[in-house]
Amino acid sequence: MSSNLGSMPLRYRVTIDREQCMECERCIENCSYGVFRRDGDRILINSRKCTACHRCLAYCPRDAIMLEEQPCDYRSHPVWTRAVRESIYNQARTGKIILAGMGSVANLPIIFDHLMLDACQVTTPPTDPLREPVELRTYLGKKPSKLEFRQKPNGDVELSTELTPNLMLETPIMLGHMSYGAISLNAHVAMARAARETGTYMGTGEGGLHPGLYPYQDRMIVQVASGRFGVNVDYLERGAAIELKLGQGAKPGIGGHLTGEKVSADVSRTRMIPQGSDAISPAPHHDIYGIEDLPQLVNSVKEATERKKPVFAKIAAVNNNAENVAAVARSGVDAIAIDGFRGGTGAAPRVFRDHVGIPIEVAISTADQELRNQGLRNEVSLIACGSIRESTDVVKAIALGADAVYIGTAALAAMGCRVCGNCYQGLCPWGIATQRQDLVDRLNPDVASKQIANLIHAWTLEITELMGAAGINSIESLRGNRDRLRGYMLDEGLLDILDVKSVGA
Ligand code: SF4
Ligand code: SF4
Repeated sequence: MSSNLGSMPLRYRVTIDREQCMECERCIENCSYGVFRRDGDRILINSRKCTACHRCLAYCPRDAIMLEEQPCDYRSHPVWTRAVRESIYNQARTGKIILAGMGSVANLPIIFDHLMLDACQVTTPPTDPLREPVELRTYLGKKPSKLEFRQKPNGDVELSTELTPNLMLETPIMLGHMSYGAISLNAHVAMARAARETGTYMGTGEGGLHPGLYPYQDRMIVQVASGRFGVNVDYLERGAAIELKLGQGAKPGIGGHLTGEKVSADVSRTRMIPQGSDAISPAPHHDIYGIEDLPQLVNSVKEATERKKPVFAKIAAVNNNAENVAAVARSGVDAIAIDGFRGGTGAAPRVFRDHVGIPIEVAISTADQELRNQGLRNEVSLIACGSIRESTDVVKAIALGADAVYIGTAALAAMGCRVCGNCYQGLCPWGIATQRQDLVDRLNPDVASKQIANLIHAWTLEITELMGAAGINSIESLRGNRDRLRGYMLDEGLLDILDVKSVGA
């Protein structure tokens, strides 16, 4: 039965400057969505298939391709926007939940952009990082509230406080959890190499650990999610740390979703799931039905790894975030990753991605304040994630109370991702969010790892400069130092929640 709806207005229009075009067909080869095809002596274009991934533009040797976002040709309406109307048409046609990739596209203010950083002037001198040390080394895990020492028979003094395992990072930037399945093995290998080169760590996501990543296992944080895909003792023992995924910023309250198109034979082996079928992890962990069950899972994982590895928990930032964080901190975990509502995803229901959760800026600040109020701040490290876009976001997140950050989309962009948001289709022409071997082969892990490492190096340098300008010489002194932030065009209520003064104060 054909629908009454007709077709939607074009989103993008692709054109070729025929004067410039040399008919090399690279656009046909590169566009995995099938926008271009040859018909006799002409290259034909189907703009309706275009996702604005920019692959054709990047590889056209004559700059002959033009791609324009089409202005909305619905009657303009402030309430019944194009997005609202197209969702209705789509669901009237299919009866399905609409999936979306990458982070939220909701047009809401970004608090990071309304927080201004401090710099020293005449009353206090800045630190010059070229001549004086600015320490970015970061330890994630429990810190003792006091250190005790004992004297050895020969007179030397040694530490008697028993320290729990910590992860040592040379920069407060880690590569966040994206599963093998959601992204390709070449993308994972690139991230792992970059993590090693820059002295940081990367998350496996919930997809298990592919043998191709075993050489980098000392740089991996292995994730245990509700689906328990690929989880066994060998997997836990291989990681440098273990993360229990309790929630995700892009889809709080529901489980992960890997579309069947991306469950290749290799992904199915690594995850221990059937090939070609959607992998949907349950909303809760089936052994956690209340906060009192979490310590048991934390303890089981610690026991399984002889208490040699830090155990993290990842939660989505939602209402009552501070209380959630404090409760998780009491479960025995060593670090808590809080994922804000703008956090990326390979596939999430659009309504969750754009409407559920709270911003990471608020979540991290309220968590830090609550942990300090309850005397728990040394019990756990805090990791901020969910739309960390540049080095200033890292500095602001740490000043709001984080110890370190996870980056996801920024690392994908460093590999070539154009944030087109179509990851769930499994046809990523950049070889990142796909398992199609011809597309995966487009991503050279040597080159991609260098690009990610360059990004981390560049941000690390900028963080050092920003801290030096503020006269701050260690991450420890920046952490939770909200006095070095000022809110610009933020209302009193939000400033109060963030515990940040207004500009001018
Ligand atoms: S989908 Fe990508 S490669 Fe294909 S026409 Fe659009 S921008 Fe070019
Ligand atoms: S990873 Fe690929 S499909 Fe996903 S947003 Fe980036 S370019 Fe698009």
